[in-house]
Amino acid sequence: MWVGFDIGGTKLAIAVGDAEGRIAARRRRPIAARGDPRADVDAMIADARALLAEAGVAADSLRGVGVAVPGPIDPVRGTVESPPNLAGWKSVPLADWFREAFDVPVHLENDANAAALAEWRFGAGQGARHLIYLTMSTGVGGGLVLDGRLYRGAGGAGEVGHMPVEWDGELCGCGRRGCLEAYVGGRCWTARLQRETPDGSRVAALAGGAARAKPEHVVAAAREGDAFALAELDRWNDYLARGLVALAFVFDPDVFVLGTIAAAAGDELCLEPLRRRLVENVWPVIANHIEIRAASLGEDAPYLAGLSAALESAMR
Ligand SMILES: [Zn+2]
Repeated sequence: MWVGFDIGGTKLAIAVGDAEGRIAARRRRPIAARGDPRADVDAMIADARALLAEAGVAADSLRGVGVAVPGPIDPVRGTVESPPNLAGWKSVPLADWFREAFDVPVHLENDANAAALAEWRFGAGQGARHLIYLTMSTGVGGGLVLDGRLYRGAGGAGEVGHMPVEWDGELCGCGRRGCLEAYVGGRCWTARLQRETPDGSRVAALAGGAARAKPEHVVAAAREGDAFALAELDRWNDYLARGLVALAFVFDPDVFVLGTIAAAAGDELCLEPLRRRLVENVWPVIANHIEIRAASLGEDAPYLAGLSAALESAMR
């Protein structure tokens, strides 16, 4: 059995499960966010011990521990550097702390990489040899599974959200301009919607005011045929396609798996328009075999991301 943790900006998901992704016990709770990582980690260790007891797992049948955590991380030293949304976490020796507590191999993985592994092992990417996953949530994280293994490059591969899709374009959260995330990331798109949504539009009505417009209101209004919402989604698909086209030419994957916003928008509003753009802009010898699928793990995603990180501890 394995223990997986998924540390989000505000929430912590902990699971005990097996290599087939069967979750025997799970827990979710807010991050204490006291800026004291040692206290947070002690609480995580106590949670994991409680879940192991709940699942009836003997200490000697625990094989490994994995942690999916926002980057930047140093996977070799097993440290979390200073993620922007984990205040007070600076060069935290997370792997050492968990190893001392459980005496098993410990593996840290960047959260988008862990999510990619989870979709590949247990979700929409099962059976693919070459998979590219894009989170499509607040930001645009990515993970590359190539030849059946996570590809890390020299450590930082998979940052697909910061591929430029315009020169000198819109400002991204990373401080650069024109990144894919600046156009299709949830945070940036929301900021644009709150500036651009016309007062009398269906999007504004659903949101309770143009200044409260969010991607989910655009998706709902587009389903009703609203012209502004359809134009916004068309622009969103267009920018996302620029990223997918570049990735298709470079990696020739079997499948793109797209998370949150794309999964919510679904086939007609998102995946089909993306498939059309891929076929229009990529050589047929590559485009014809690439599938674009929505992420499928839903509520289980953070638990399985943690367990996928744990399974990587056996790969080293
Ligand atoms: Zn960026």
